[in-house]
Amino acid sequence: MVEGVRIEEGVVEARPGRRERSRCGICGRRSPGYDGGEGRRRWRALDLGATRAFVEAKAPRVACKRHGVVVVRVPWARHGSRFTRPFEAQVAWLANYCSKSAVCELMRVSWLSVGRMIERVVADEQAKRGDRLERLRRIGIDELSYRKGQRYITGVVDHDTGRLVWAADGRDKKTVASFFAELGPERTGRIELVSSDMGEWITRVVARECPQATLCLDPFHVVKLASAALGRGPPRGLERRPPRRRPGRRALAERGALGALEAARAADRTPTSEAGHDRAGQPPAVPGLPLEGAAAARLPRA
Ligand SMILES: [Zn+2]
Repeated sequence: MVEGVRIEEGVVEARPGRRERSRCGICGRRSPGYDGGEGRRRWRALDLGATRAFVEAKAPRVACKRHGVVVVRVPWARHGSRFTRPFEAQVAWLANYCSKSAVCELMRVSWLSVGRMIERVVADEQAKRGDRLERLRRIGIDELSYRKGQRYITGVVDHDTGRLVWAADGRDKKTVASFFAELGPERTGRIELVSSDMGEWITRVVARECPQATLCLDPFHVVKLASAALGRGPPRGLERRPPRRRPGRRALAERGALGALEAARAADRTPTSEAGHDRAGQPPAVPGLPLEGAAAARLPRA
């Protein structure tokens, strides 16, 4: 919530919205207040033109049951950081494409800060990815086709949350196996049900990697849920493969499926309520990250 803006200094005075207030900076649990901390604090934000910009707010401390006395969480910055999330996202992105000195000069930060920002961004993305795979019990595996059935990705949906939790280029046994490899034996062992269109490329791998799970037929559910997970309505150009049309290996290998999926989704993107914090429209902050981590940043939260 913005309380005021002082343009000459580029300072935005803010406080967390009602629902974000009084939460532990580490785990986000709502906790009783402890003290005023060090008073008001500033977080470096993306420049306003050539003016350095800051978000300024109170930074009181709360007493978390698990973490003790900690500074409250603020929605615009990561715990322990003196930079806002969009600032860190931009630095992490730039660090992938520019030289060290270019990033430091453009963003007016030290290289040491850049390193710490990248670490925080990567840890965040990885945590999100891990969470999504954490409590899977009933999943659906299906292919998503686009470009009139010329290209495919394999998607895994969590039936309990309706979220797309994993996706990768291709539709073959290897792709499905790589999902279970990433899930690991322990989490795979907890899967109870796998729905699919019963294609052999799915069922054979499931029988081998996840023998305890019940296989069931699910001809349309996954696409519906995945579309819902990706935003409102099915993304343009993202529809189910027409029956009996399978692409050649060359067509599949020709181009990264995900690039086209992202493009399709970009066209359909809906405006976000937190305009200042939106990274949509930029390439993923850390393009080297595996797909889901980067893509997940733009999926709606439940
Ligand atoms: Zn805590």
